[in-house]
Amino acid sequence: MRILVVKGDGIGPEIVPEGQRCLEAASEAFGLGLTFQEDFIGFDGIKKYGHACPEEVIERIRDADGALFGPHNNVDYPPEHQAYANPSGIIRRGLHLHANLRPSKTRQGVPAHVPKMDIVIARENMEGFYADRNMHAGGGEFMANPDLAQSIRNISRTASTNIAVAGCDFAMQRRKKVTIIHKANVMKLTDGLWREACLDVTSKYPELEVEEVILDAFAAHIVRRPQDFDVVICSNMYGDIFSDLASELAGGLGLGGSINASHTDCIAQCAHGSAPDIAGKNIANPTAMIVSAAMMLTWLAVKHEKPAFNLAANAIEIALSTQLAKGRTRDLGGDMDCDEFGAAVAVRIKA
Ligand code: ATP
Repeated sequence: MRILVVKGDGIGPEIVPEGQRCLEAASEAFGLGLTFQEDFIGFDGIKKYGHACPEEVIERIRDADGALFGPHNNVDYPPEHQAYANPSGIIRRGLHLHANLRPSKTRQGVPAHVPKMDIVIARENMEGFYADRNMHAGGGEFMANPDLAQSIRNISRTASTNIAVAGCDFAMQRRKKVTIIHKANVMKLTDGLWREACLDVTSKYPELEVEEVILDAFAAHIVRRPQDFDVVICSNMYGDIFSDLASELAGGLGLGGSINASHTDCIAQCAHGSAPDIAGKNIANPTAMIVSAAMMLTWLAVKHEKPAFNLAANAIEIALSTQLAKGRTRDLGGDMDCDEFGAAVAVRIKA
């Protein structure tokens, strides 16, 4: 199977190769037959193709079996490249990657802010408050006068249903509990439609325990009793915010892996951004990228009905947890460099 590797900006060129290194180790140990091909988005895309998110690279991601996708620092692109949405948004919408699954869990040896948590934020990926990708033509943000800015938020029954199905399916493989987040008591039409669509879906999963929690109350509950949540279904921006919070509660942003997926395509992409403040120093934590790579293998196992990919994903998870208990990067109080940590995980995968 062919994996496209896009390093991206900031710490991307440091963490993405560690994700690849772990996939190579897993491929060797479990006979997965993965091959890797590099392509360019972001600053490298501007250099090579004259565009930060070239159409041809999007097509190559679509053609590949999966992709390792680094973060992007689009706010620093030259002004002429800032007119379009950021590369992540373009790709998620272009490939209709409707589900963004973002796990966060406490692990032995990793200093966390909560004693125990194992949660997945199932984040809607196509619409919500992201006005830069909400319109067929024209911008979703505008100013009626110099002192009044407005933006468009989209909530559709289709997108809400799609993420609810992805979240429920994921919960069926886990502890069989879903929490639906909304603010339907105030935003009666938008969050009201979201709530209705999610509850329609959950009614078809009688084995699941289902609860609804109001957005702001959830911010308190995830800190106070994170152990009570399993899969948490959120609209786009709510999910973005809560997944950062969940990563940080578990120990830090460098832990937050994720996949962006549809039924046909999947890209492994960290929940965190490009961290330009620590780029180029070999001190970034590659854990999120490695977690994301393992999640992509699980997705491939289901799509192609190949149990070896599941075994490989589990092996990466176990190797990662074992390594994190023994030694970590500086963000987690350790003294390991980014490449040293990735190499140590790869050795454990093959052990
Ligand atoms: P962007 O504009 O691309 O979102 P950002 O710096 O605003 O970048 P993040 O990249 O999400 O936002 O990170 C915020 C901070 O968290 C970073 O400045 C960095 O210190 C820390 N951080 C994020 N990812 C990692 C990582 N993998 N390893 C170590 N620290 C990280």
